[in-house]
Amino acid sequence: MHIDTLAIRSTHLPDENAHSVATPIYMSTTFERAEDGSSPKEFIYSRADNPNRRLLEQSLAVLEGGTHGFAFASGLASITAVIQMLKTGDHVIIGDDTYFAAALLMQDVFAQWGLQISRVDMTDLEAVQAAIQPETKLIWVETPSNPLLKITDIQAIADIAHANQALCGVDNTWATPVLQRPLELGADIVQHATTKYFGGHSDVLGGALIVKDETLAASLKKIQTLTGGVPSPFECWLVTRGIKTLPLRVRTQSESALSIAQFLANHPKVEATHYPGLETHPQHQIAKKQMQMFGGMLSFQVYGGAAEAIAVAARIRLFTRATSLGGVESLIEHRRSAEGPTSVAPDNLLRVSVGLEHPSDLIVDLAQAL
Ligand SMILES: *Cc1c(COP(=O)(O)O)cnc(C)c1O
Repeated sequence: MHIDTLAIRSTHLPDENAHSVATPIYMSTTFERAEDGSSPKEFIYSRADNPNRRLLEQSLAVLEGGTHGFAFASGLASITAVIQMLKTGDHVIIGDDTYFAAALLMQDVFAQWGLQISRVDMTDLEAVQAAIQPETKLIWVETPSNPLLKITDIQAIADIAHANQALCGVDNTWATPVLQRPLELGADIVQHATTKYFGGHSDVLGGALIVKDETLAASLKKIQTLTGGVPSPFECWLVTRGIKTLPLRVRTQSESALSIAQFLANHPKVEATHYPGLETHPQHQIAKKQMQMFGGMLSFQVYGGAAEAIAVAARIRLFTRATSLGGVESLIEHRRSAEGPTSVAPDNLLRVSVGLEHPSDLIVDLAQAL
């Protein structure tokens, strides 16, 4: 079936109690056992499993073409669970343009447990190959990358990882399974900040992992249950509801982002526009190969440095000046300020999350602000 159909049907919970069409929220932390001590629906305690979380996790697996989904309380909690599968001394290769907090998590927090990190330009396959060590256990891909929208060839990286007995994990937050399905391209683990496009309305934090291997699934289930960074039933309900409109939102946002990127690319005040849908994007051909459309995120650099970038954002009316992405409202931010002192983002760069407003209105607004 098409992902539109899967998004609706995989998030529908047949309700024996009241025949409710919308999914009830099961707030219960604990579940009654039968007289013989068994658990009729295999629910015991909500840290381990809950009806709303199970529905979300099954939907995540279906959408990404995996066998097991795991929901977490935030995107970073889900990345943490992946790293917790590794051990002291293991080596991880991440991109030079990885989401800054994920890089900080590995370099600041997990460095204390002896995790080794190399940061490389993932668009350069020889550089990735050269970074491999005997201890390399994970190559962590983020494509499109944040905030420069670099595209990494998932299949090529998965091949390098597997030739070296390492796992390939992909942060698929910016693409979503509507546009890109990393497990089908050879990745072992897909990760999401469901905070973004899955939730879709800037009102819930969440993270997700999806795998298709039983050993990995067992290991992640253990970590998820024992570390306990799980979302509440209500948060699961919000993400599950968001999934129903995910394909519609992401396609419309991708169409609008392409129009906006084309406008920016031709504007005299704009020094550079980063969007994989532009034919001038250095990895446009790889994007075309592995993505259905090019996503709702873009960034651009203005002439005049940080001061002018901040001034453009100040003159904007229809975009909200805020961090995060993937919601129905368009957002703009000066990324360097958002990331703080460790930022490697160019200081004249503005990052845009395209929402569901009409693209013509957004372009008029950008034109007056520039
Ligand atoms: C937001 C984001 C994360 C982290 O998600 P949180 O829910 O904020 O913890 C990870 N990766 C990417 C690409 C993101 O955009």
